[in-house]
Amino acid sequence: MEELFVQDPEVAAAIANEIERQVSKLELIASENFVSTAVRQAQGSVMTHKYAEGYPGKRWYGGCEFVDMVEDMARDRAKELFGAGYANVQPHSGSQANMAVYFAACKPGDTVLGMDLSHGGHLTHGSPVNFSGKLFNIVHYGVSRETQTIDYDQVEALAKEHRPKMIIAGASAYPRIIDFARFRAIADEVGAKLMVDMAHIAGLIAAGEHPSCIEHAHYTTTTTHKTLRGPRGGMILGGEELEQELNSNIFPGIQGGPLMHVIAAKAVSFGEALSPGFTEYQQQVVKNAKVLATSMQEAGYRLVSGGTDNHLMLVDLSDRDYTGKDAQIALDKAGITVNKNTIPFETKSPFQTSGIRLGTPALTTRGMIEEDMIVVAEAITAALENIGDDKILKEISEEVEEFAREFPLYAW
Ligand code: PLP
Repeated sequence: MEELFVQDPEVAAAIANEIERQVSKLELIASENFVSTAVRQAQGSVMTHKYAEGYPGKRWYGGCEFVDMVEDMARDRAKELFGAGYANVQPHSGSQANMAVYFAACKPGDTVLGMDLSHGGHLTHGSPVNFSGKLFNIVHYGVSRETQTIDYDQVEALAKEHRPKMIIAGASAYPRIIDFARFRAIADEVGAKLMVDMAHIAGLIAAGEHPSCIEHAHYTTTTTHKTLRGPRGGMILGGEELEQELNSNIFPGIQGGPLMHVIAAKAVSFGEALSPGFTEYQQQVVKNAKVLATSMQEAGYRLVSGGTDNHLMLVDLSDRDYTGKDAQIALDKAGITVNKNTIPFETKSPFQTSGIRLGTPALTTRGMIEEDMIVVAEAITAALENIGDDKILKEISEEVEEFAREFPLYAW
């Protein structure tokens, strides 16, 4: 950072402040994590200089012998990690991985069945403000009102009625195990392709903490930066037969040159995920989520679907006199970072919401275990109970900072 401070002190200061924020606050955003120093070194490496349009051994540019090596390593490690026959590690993001699959499996105007955003789906699963909702005829399924778990009977009924070209399983805010076999059976019944977007749970699947989708899905997409704990980016997995169709849909279909520094960092993170400590980490993520969920419930907060099977939970605040947005702001003042989130059958706008989403991947990376989750829950509930009192929120933030610093992020 020294050169950066000399050359561009403004950017350097913003980065320094971001380091301080990450170190001194509790990070509970379910889609975030902290990568290792090795991953950051690969991502900050000279591989950012290299143009490498195409794929290893078949590039449009010279000088690709070393970037070919890292892309091969990333692909091979990803295949080994998930037991897949095919991997494409070039998508710049999860959204681009999803876009490539849409273009491979469907034509604009085709019908696609995806999970409603307000029930836990992602923007790319058919939101009208996203390319998916603009280019395809989207039909949405959701969770049942009673159990708040995916209503598979509704999925089946909608599939039979609308005969979609593709069905999408996977979510951004769904705390329960997803029955991929059931999704595949429904897809087969109507002749649809099944795409599973495992972005949130990829790390859990890699470690066997959530049933795998690979054998059930025609296409699996993911981000690499959530529970998987790699650099920000995307990936597509599937059977060997996907290679031609999917590769050309990424490049030249929707992307130009791949981000070779990010692919190098993906290779490093997949190597970490293949190491023994990774399974323990994922097990701890799930154990921590269960304790955090129980502690929140014991403090009187209702959780969507009554709990969690994975790394996240949705706290339903609809019986309180404040919104998810108010809660997010108050928690921020208390040094606790979360995001407001819609809950199923939401009555408020997506800018206000009736819920917040909590996740344990980042805190678990910092070394927190079950007993620490009780402390975290106490801090969250103390802040929510004093939502309008900035003086108390400030006091909580001081306690939170002292606690957070017991779990160093890196030796800065
Ligand atoms: N799919 C799911 C289920 C997600 O939760 C997300 C991001 O939150 C994405 C796709 C998109 O990933 P990105 O932000 O990398 O485009």
